[in-house]
Amino acid sequence: MNITELARRLKIPTQQLKEELPKLGFDIGHRAIKVDDTVAEKVIKLWAERQRKLRDSNYVVVEKRLDDNKLTKQSEREVELPQTLTPREFAALLGMSVTTVVGELFKNGIMASINECIDFETASIIAQDLGFKTKVAAAVTNEVDEHKTAIDLADLLQEEDKSKLKPRPPVVVVMGHVDHGKTTLLDAIRSTNVAAQESGAITQHIGAYQVEEKGRKITFLDTPGHEAFSAMRSRGGRLADIAIIVVAADDGLQPQTMEAIEIAQREKLPFLIAINKVDKETADIERCKKTLAEINLLPEDWGGKTICVPISAKKKQGIPELLDMVLLLADLEKVQANPDRLAVGTIVEAHLDKGEGPVATVLVQTGTLRVCDYLLVGERGGKVKAMRNFKGENVTSAGPSTPVRILGLKQAPHAGDIFKVVKDESLVRDVLRKATKFQRNVALPTIIAKDETTESAVPQTTLNVILKTDVLGSREALVASLNQLSRGDVAVKIVRTGLGSINENDVIQAEASKAVLFGFNVPLLPQAEMLAKTKGVYTHTYKVIYDLLDEAKKQLTTMLKPELVRSQVGEARILEIFRRGKRDMIVGCRVIRGFARPGTKVRTLRSGGVQLEFKLLEVRLGKEVVGEVSEGGECGLKLQGEPALEAGENLEIYHEEIRNRVIN
Ligand code: GDP
Repeated sequence: MNITELARRLKIPTQQLKEELPKLGFDIGHRAIKVDDTVAEKVIKLWAERQRKLRDSNYVVVEKRLDDNKLTKQSEREVELPQTLTPREFAALLGMSVTTVVGELFKNGIMASINECIDFETASIIAQDLGFKTKVAAAVTNEVDEHKTAIDLADLLQEEDKSKLKPRPPVVVVMGHVDHGKTTLLDAIRSTNVAAQESGAITQHIGAYQVEEKGRKITFLDTPGHEAFSAMRSRGGRLADIAIIVVAADDGLQPQTMEAIEIAQREKLPFLIAINKVDKETADIERCKKTLAEINLLPEDWGGKTICVPISAKKKQGIPELLDMVLLLADLEKVQANPDRLAVGTIVEAHLDKGEGPVATVLVQTGTLRVCDYLLVGERGGKVKAMRNFKGENVTSAGPSTPVRILGLKQAPHAGDIFKVVKDESLVRDVLRKATKFQRNVALPTIIAKDETTESAVPQTTLNVILKTDVLGSREALVASLNQLSRGDVAVKIVRTGLGSINENDVIQAEASKAVLFGFNVPLLPQAEMLAKTKGVYTHTYKVIYDLLDEAKKQLTTMLKPELVRSQVGEARILEIFRRGKRDMIVGCRVIRGFARPGTKVRTLRSGGVQLEFKLLEVRLGKEVVGEVSEGGECGLKLQGEPALEAGENLEIYHEEIRNRVIN
């Protein structure tokens, strides 16, 4: 066949065909003017298939086969739930993502972080909403229970022999509203109170540090207080003994201050207020105290119980007084531990270091941790090979409330994990073995939720989001709900979250990461709004969660590819070829399932190789053109497409529909 003729058949210019042929695997040379007929035939088929794939890539293709309705309906799936479980375990049992489950909980008014416990009743209601049948799981074996409680901090600390308790340094967390001076305060305390360093030692930020005041030690958690605290309270224990809540004297009590106070009160964590930035002209200490009094936190000097210390973190004023008050609170609280036992504590920070392997900062809460100790962290373990304090100095032991960086773990644990020292290595191995068994017994997701239709894999496009919120609580809820909007080919990607108003920097970051900028209960600063307009960055701040989510849905919907739904309506077997035209053919068939109807489509059901696709133009019963022939009927089908069908082949008859998708 002439190349020009082939190009005409494919409805493309000859030059383009010459360029495309090598891509299809036919290298016929640039000067060729003819191709072999068998080659031409193959090219035509491959071309048709490629066009089809190209077209399909514009859609999310959903294939529905005739027997799909026999598939198990979601409501018939059963899931076994234990008496209590964390959202993380719950998600594994349902075969869903953790964010989906947290989002569902949130919709039902339950704010649970992934490691908090929810009870059977709650989980059961949510599971049923998601289309599952539920039943109570048989109790797990004692062996498993032992393992589970073995890493529960509260229980571990309860084992304490009261007669052996001795005072230990208090562990302090600094919380407060953004920009009120938390970081400046942590730096000020560190630089003024850390004992002179030995030559060569470099102070490192390892998540916690210790200072001395009047010969007594105080441990500070060096992470953004608010967030570290909420991450760490979930493992059944408490890391901090005392909170310093920083309030800027020129700004007063703000949403995150209120949230910090609420967290401290809820956790029964003693706290004191550091009224910061008193060096500023606009500082108004009395106003701060008045607002505190209004929320039932009457300051000490007004006859109440709330300790308020005026400070200037920037000018390093008032720091000794603040630390004195911390020590006073520690004495009142009887902060104690037993240094003469195997250590138990919490992972403050952990990462994988390129040179050193897994590195973790731990805070010893009771006992003394020593080099060469065998350590268990959840289902991981290891031997302490070396320890360094926050000054980077090697140490061989670390008593209660001491933060140290340890080397020697097999894997990096998670911040907030509890560790405990065990007597010898065999115990580590033993527990690790039980832990694996435990995972096999309980954490096995028994049911994998599957869509009733099979969606072909499509590359994902993302809606990048930068989110600014007033408080941590709303941020967690929004992140969970936004992540829940992701599906198949579109996903929400939270590029960054932050607390506080939307400023110019946020806009610049949004532009750089091609993100939309959502605010919740925070102001959009006028300069930021102007900048966003000139840069074309979508930015808006909301007061109602659902309005924000609606906007995200709207934006995601515009990114969705329409759905191409192919529903099988029948199947036919070719008995005879009546006529082969150039671009069509008439075949004699028996309908073996469903029906054949003009206006539908037909494709081959070959097990391999190129599939052919046709339009079903006409259905004839004898000589008569009919509207439909159903199962068992013999008929003639007029098909438009490449006339390459053979007798004996099976054909699938299907209906194609394009549907716009929405996210709701
Ligand atoms: P954080 O967000 O709470 O950690 O706040 P930062 O420590 O980053 O402080 C926010 C801003 O307030 C910075 O520009 C600091 O320099 C400033 N700042 C912090 N403490 C003081 C203070 O005592 N006086 C004055 N004038 N400024 C302060």
